[in-house]
Amino acid sequence: MTIEVIAPEVEFAGVTKRYGNGPTILEGVNLEILKGEFVSIIGPSGCGKSTVLKLISGLTMPSAGTICVDGMTPKNARETVSYIFQDATLLPWRTVRRNVALALELEGAPTDRREEKTGALLDLVGLRAVADAYPRELSGGMKMRVSIARALATNPRLLLMDEPFAALDEMSRDRLNEEILRLRTEQNWTAVFVTHSVAEAVFLSTRIVVLAPNPGRIYAVLPVDLPQPRTGALRTAPEFDALVGKVAHTLREARSQEQRAEAKLDQEKRDEASSMRRAR
Ligand code: ADP
Repeated sequence: MTIEVIAPEVEFAGVTKRYGNGPTILEGVNLEILKGEFVSIIGPSGCGKSTVLKLISGLTMPSAGTICVDGMTPKNARETVSYIFQDATLLPWRTVRRNVALALELEGAPTDRREEKTGALLDLVGLRAVADAYPRELSGGMKMRVSIARALATNPRLLLMDEPFAALDEMSRDRLNEEILRLRTEQNWTAVFVTHSVAEAVFLSTRIVVLAPNPGRIYAVLPVDLPQPRTGALRTAPEFDALVGKVAHTLREARSQEQRAEAKLDQEKRDEASSMRRAR
């Protein structure tokens, strides 16, 4: 009998992060993300969401604890990981086609394979018609599509996305949300997605990790048991609304924990000051 062990794509064990001698940004983070999952990370600004992505990609190292990506150290796993940022960061002097081809050029892929792959990616994100346009000629949504195609050019097993749709209007964001799920079904990568939007997190994810701030830590992990494949119609379903409400409530709890901790600290300082005054 063979036993199939499903290794996690990403594994954080007791991860703590400080930048230099600064404050603790993340503390005691334990998290397993399995292959094929779509995990969103949500939490107040500054709680360490982007830092989690930087740690996974090996851009920064943990101060304590260990991180494994595809069974390797993040640095060794770099070739299997792609990043998409809020700013599409396209090269303005390159056409759409040549922006998408960039990673393949850097890899040294032969011209015919590069052209074939770039064409297929442009079809995949619906940009074949503007292949020879320059970034300045594109809308925000189209630029983000180029950025997605470029990230997929290296066949990543893990896609890290840092608020990729935050700068877009709601309709473009909704459309790209549906597109990203379609691409995932076709290509089967694992996703770790940072967002401020609860509705976006619910629509996209198989699980949502809610971080609490100061220091950043996991406050709750919520499964999203909504049917797949997900279409735009889901956004008007009562179970979608119910889950959005639940995640928003959990997020408020995570924030208010911090406010309570601050209030307690203020009270302790006031108590200390008044006992010093009495002692004088
Ligand atoms: P979030 O994505 O939740 O807004 P970040 O992970 O970007 O949070 O940042 C968390 C904290 O870490 C912030 O206080 C930020 O200023 C700090 N930080 C992020 N990157 C660096 C860095 N390279 N050096 C020093 N501090 C950093």
